[in-house]
Amino acid sequence: MLCNQSNEEKINVCIKCGNNDILINNCGYSSFNAGSGTCKKCENKVVASNGSWDDDNWIIKEWNFKNPTKEEEIVFLEDQIKKMKNKIKEVKKRDW
Ligand SMILES: [Zn+2]
Repeated sequence: MLCNQSNEEKINVCIKCGNNDILINNCGYSSFNAGSGTCKKCENKVVASNGSWDDDNWIIKEWNFKNPTKEEEIVFLEDQIKKMKNKIKEVKKRDW
């Protein structure tokens, strides 16, 4: 079992508590490899699977996806609003 710490990909802070001390764990299996990111403060955990054993970027990407920055989350939510508004327009056009 191998545990690498990598700084190649920038790790987002924990979405639940804002902590930036995230433990990235790479199991290091040659196939069906698993990994995880865990906030050392509140233990918010993201599990990832099937990534390479010799770098941690895929785990960090998964962590970042589940822990978006404020800006990223706002962009995502605004996109949702746009989609909802379009959906409302569609519903209004319905004549039954
Ligand atoms: Zn946390």
